[in-house]
Amino acid sequence: MKLLDIIEDVSLDITYHKHAVEIVNKIVQFFMNSGEYKDYNKFKFSRFGGMKTVYLWISSQDMGINENFRLLITGKDQADFTGSATTFENSDLNCITLVFPNKKFPDGFFNNTQNTIDFCINEITYNRKIHSILKHEFIHMFDNDRNPSIYSKNSDNETTKEYFNNPSEFNAFYHNVVEHLMSYINTVEKSPDRIDELRKMFKITNDFKQTIKLCLDKAPWIATEFFNNLTSRNKQALYKRLYKLYDYAIHLKQQTNESFITEGRDTPLYHSYRDSKYAVTALKTNRMAAKTTQRFWKDGKRRLDNDPE
Ligand SMILES: [Zn+2]
Repeated sequence: MKLLDIIEDVSLDITYHKHAVEIVNKIVQFFMNSGEYKDYNKFKFSRFGGMKTVYLWISSQDMGINENFRLLITGKDQADFTGSATTFENSDLNCITLVFPNKKFPDGFFNNTQNTIDFCINEITYNRKIHSILKHEFIHMFDNDRNPSIYSKNSDNETTKEYFNNPSEFNAFYHNVVEHLMSYINTVEKSPDRIDELRKMFKITNDFKQTIKLCLDKAPWIATEFFNNLTSRNKQALYKRLYKLYDYAIHLKQQTNESFITEGRDTPLYHSYRDSKYAVTALKTNRMAAKTTQRFWKDGKRRLDNDPE
């Protein structure tokens, strides 16, 4: 399989995205429960590089997640939250690191273990920016797992433009851009009968550009930064890929079971499904036939299949 095929397969994108969301939800759930039961023993805790660096880790197994990774939480003197995904050579262990900005907190705040854990519990539970970072890092993790050789690694001296155009970042940021659209697809697939209402709620329109603009508005700010830094070739590739997903999203249908209900065989049921007024009339006039043992005959009476008439 070529890289482009992997990147452009919509159903694969949806599957991976869903899986990343599932893992993030499980992490959130874990931290929520830890906060509720004040179960601090689950957290392994150590400090590196002096008192300023906080280092908290927890394994996927401890969070009840069926993947092999460790979630590391550390702090740095930086402006905002960031993340990274690392796979150690000669080991199948992945590390997902979440780095929070020390600067935003009073000096000495993280010297207290309980402060740190409480802070993590609160932030990871409620901070949507962190959820986006984690989704992004899990996409990197899946990419590394499925084919490490085709995804180039980040290097320290790459420029902003090089960073965003790196194939692995292209893929991970794509998933940040489509968070809103993916969330729509996921919700419709769970409740197909609510599709009209959901489409309004998620503001999905027949205008592709408008929908993509909405996605960018709803995505973390870095997604816009990513968009603006793409080479014209990659921007085109992104539009193409976004269009495929958008096309999939707007063609999602209410589950009508149309192959199951046919116009010829199930006339009253077929029309009732489309128009509830028809259903009321059919029921009142006793024309809604049961499917298995009775038939609807031309005179409107219900008779069994083996009726001599
Ligand atoms: Zn990345």
